[in-house]
Amino acid sequence: MVFFTVGYLRGEPPLLMLLTSISLAVAAIPEALPAVITIALAMGAKRMVRNKALVRKLPAVETLGSVTYICTDKTGTLTENKMTVQEIWAGTETIPAADVAAHTTEEPIRWLLQSMALCNDVKADEKGKPIGDPTEIAIALLAKGNHFTKKELEITWPRIAEIPFDSERKCMTTLHQDASGVFAFSKGALDVMLDKTTGLSASDKAKWMEWGDQMAGQGLRVLGFAMRKLPHLPEKISPHTVENELTMLGIAGLIDPPRKEVAKAIRECKTAGIKTVMITGDYLLTARNIAEKLGIMESPDDLVVTGAELAAMSSGEFSKKVENIRVYARVSPEQKLGIVKALQEKGHFVAMTGDGVNDAPSLKRSDIGIAMGITGTDVSKEASDMILLDDNFATIVSAVKQGRRIFDNIRKFIRYIMTGNTGEIWTLVLAPFFGLPIPLLPIHILWINLVSDGLPSIALAAEPSEKGIMKRPPRPAGESIFAGGLGRHILWVGFLIGAICIATQLVAIKMGDSHWQTMVFSVLSFSQMAHVLGIRSESQSLFRQGLLSNLPLLGAVLLTCALQLATIYVPFLNPVFKTAPLTLYELLAVLGASSLVLVAVELEKLFFNRKIAVH
Ligand code: ADP
Ligand code: MG
Repeated sequence: MVFFTVGYLRGEPPLLMLLTSISLAVAAIPEALPAVITIALAMGAKRMVRNKALVRKLPAVETLGSVTYICTDKTGTLTENKMTVQEIWAGTETIPAADVAAHTTEEPIRWLLQSMALCNDVKADEKGKPIGDPTEIAIALLAKGNHFTKKELEITWPRIAEIPFDSERKCMTTLHQDASGVFAFSKGALDVMLDKTTGLSASDKAKWMEWGDQMAGQGLRVLGFAMRKLPHLPEKISPHTVENELTMLGIAGLIDPPRKEVAKAIRECKTAGIKTVMITGDYLLTARNIAEKLGIMESPDDLVVTGAELAAMSSGEFSKKVENIRVYARVSPEQKLGIVKALQEKGHFVAMTGDGVNDAPSLKRSDIGIAMGITGTDVSKEASDMILLDDNFATIVSAVKQGRRIFDNIRKFIRYIMTGNTGEIWTLVLAPFFGLPIPLLPIHILWINLVSDGLPSIALAAEPSEKGIMKRPPRPAGESIFAGGLGRHILWVGFLIGAICIATQLVAIKMGDSHWQTMVFSVLSFSQMAHVLGIRSESQSLFRQGLLSNLPLLGAVLLTCALQLATIYVPFLNPVFKTAPLTLYELLAVLGASSLVLVAVELEKLFFNRKIAVH
């Protein structure tokens, strides 16, 4: 409006002024931005799926870059969830799995193997491959390897009822008919099983726990096995009526090796300022051993807390400790919600994994809820922002890296488009102050906004990740997108582009060059190309990156340059764009003036961003 009025008063033709004012308004608003951002997020999501991370909510692509804590399950995510029994104990000595065959005639071992064969829900698929819970497959395979199979045993002891496993109770029981009554076989966490026995003295219990601890201390998952003889099936089958007065049969120590990519992923998190926390239903010593192996626990300040300790802690005390706790053992899904909340209250941006139905509230509450594609329940997937198609912790870390790259690239095209727009505005606004005629026609501005802005900014989304992208701290979640010098850049480089255009116009007119308008138009367009090459990295020089590391962008720049030259040198386009063919000398002057922008941006990186190379 102001622009229109001033121009009108200066005696410019009103229609031209109206069009120019509209063009100025068009130039000022980065219309392409929302579309380009959505395209970048969608392209990012597509790339993440190829890396096995399925993003359910598009904004998560970008917010992943802000994660400061990853709270992860242990079994299956950090470990392979391929269990094998490593050793057993039935009251006397530890027997390695391979040596069990030599002991099958001993009475206690027989009973232990029978309970292993019967107390599980493993099924075989059509090829005879066992399917089911990996913990159960491991014990069923050990029993089968020693000729105790469910199929044969159930001929004499058919299963008549079951109390299924639940991670709250941490055990399960199957009931079998026998000629003289009913057998109940139970298995579960060792401490849980010992609490349900009778006839064991306190010192006996301590002895069992000692053996269990010894296995757990090596990182083994410890399962206790017990049985009970009942005269007949109780009327109501429940944990209350069945799972007590048990007799202990033995212990199995199962090994679940850590996934091999995980230790590296955890190290990467560390340099990226992200803390990894293990949350597991498993036993404390087992959890701690794996956490130490993987590098989750390192410093003496790192704490391990059990669900029971957590329940006994006041919220003030928990809040004081929460940033140092690296392992939560024996916690229930309900407690995960409290952990997310406590971390969030400390200002952290929390990613949390979960697979069960009762993980849904904590997945919803966390900033990035991550469900498991293979073992996850539908409810947990429904509540999540992202699904790991391979259940693998390392996939979370690669998704975070992608998230950071995409956020960087969004900043890049904001930087590109807004700087260019600022340059156009300065050119149009400054000219009258130097007594110059309106430098650009509406068609020029539209051309620059559509062609010179459009092609390269889409190609910027293909920019590879910045060097050291996982060596800088997470971006604060609430931080403005213009932080880290972006606002300053847009203002001063925009002004520089405007100044170069005005200088070109001034000098050309002074020298009586009738092609001045074509020159200004070309300078504006070519300086955008120089600019986009300069801002490919926020800190690294273009000459270190090399022109070839983003081929789509190089292609977009060359194509735009060719189109720009066409507007000047293709005769039938001259009347459309009101341009004239430039002489070689004029063209060189245009290119020289335009490349000043690249020089300026390179200098900016050299002086400012060296300090904030890791911003
Ligand atoms: P996590 O998988 O994180 O260890 P769970 O809640 O699945 O946590 O398991 C909790 C505990 O219950 C385990 O540490 C183990 O002692 C016991 N447990 C796990 N699976 C079974 C099962 N199929 N039958 C009996 N007990 C089990
Ligand atoms: Mg489990």
